[in-house]
Amino acid sequence: MTRRVALLGKPLKRRHSVVMHNAAFDAAGIDARYELLELEPEAVEAAVTAARGPEFLGLGVTAPYKKVVANLVDEVESDAARIGAVNNVVSTDDGRLIGINTDAPGFRAGVERAMGRPLTGAAVVVAGAGGAAHAVVFACLVAGAGRVTIGNRTAPAAEELAARMSGVGDGAVSGTGLGDPAFASATASADVAVNATTVGMLDPGMTLPVDLVPSAATVFDLVYVPAETPLVAAARARGLRAANGSEMLIAQAAAAFERWTGVGGMADVMRAAVQPLLDDASVRA
Ligand code: NAP
Repeated sequence: MTRRVALLGKPLKRRHSVVMHNAAFDAAGIDARYELLELEPEAVEAAVTAARGPEFLGLGVTAPYKKVVANLVDEVESDAARIGAVNNVVSTDDGRLIGINTDAPGFRAGVERAMGRPLTGAAVVVAGAGGAAHAVVFACLVAGAGRVTIGNRTAPAAEELAARMSGVGDGAVSGTGLGDPAFASATASADVAVNATTVGMLDPGMTLPVDLVPSAATVFDLVYVPAETPLVAAARARGLRAANGSEMLIAQAAAAFERWTGVGGMADVMRAAVQPLLDDASVRA
């Protein structure tokens, strides 16, 4: 029996996950396929129920279903519960479904690679308070960041996220408006500045005041389409360390693959497979 993993979302325009996971299944000699399952909201529950069947290794979950799927599985792991989003589901042999979040470890792997050092003790600013920002803030605090300042266009969402993450790790966490002087001042003393909004992908421009970022700091953009986002371009023009979200994408996929199959160490296979898509300027958001 060919096993399956289906990615639930709407719309599903990108094939990055398909390419990465199928290359990894092939390299590991596992008879399984990863497929896109674009669904209307009313079809999500049936799709999750189907994943209890023996052919399923699990599910991938993307926008806008990361929260709703958390309510349809049998168990949500504690990290995913604290983050408030499930981006993958593991199907157990006895038909149980476990919701997990691999965006957090994926972000940590990606940003620490970009920084060239661990997040421990780092002062971090995060633009955004959506699903991805929840995983980013959680990952920073778990990794021992000393301070995390969240700035969001809609300030109350940043304040809510800070309150939700209070007590995760020992670092201080606060939320404010993106244009608030407190966010600018935190940016001016940050070790790493992260864009976790859709700006740069869906909207032109950038969320972070790059001119204020210290010269020794790292700029990390979760957006990976286009490959050189306006933020990454501006940071590089200033001579800062800068990276887009491609390594996070690869690391979160490799972490999910390991949970479905027990086979780790697939990041290099996935990177090689997805690189042409990441480099393809015709791939749009
Ligand atoms: P989301 O839940 O929809 O949140 C969107 C965020 O962007 C919110 O904070 C929103 O602010 C902000 N935003 C949207 N338009 C804005 C604008 N014009 N100006 C300022 N802020 C704006 O999205 P998400 O799931 O968190 O995803 C965010 C980004 O992360 C996406 O680009 C996604 O592709 C990327 N991502 C990358 C990876 C990876 O592996 N590299 C993984 C996950 C996500 P408001 O609250 O004010 O609306």
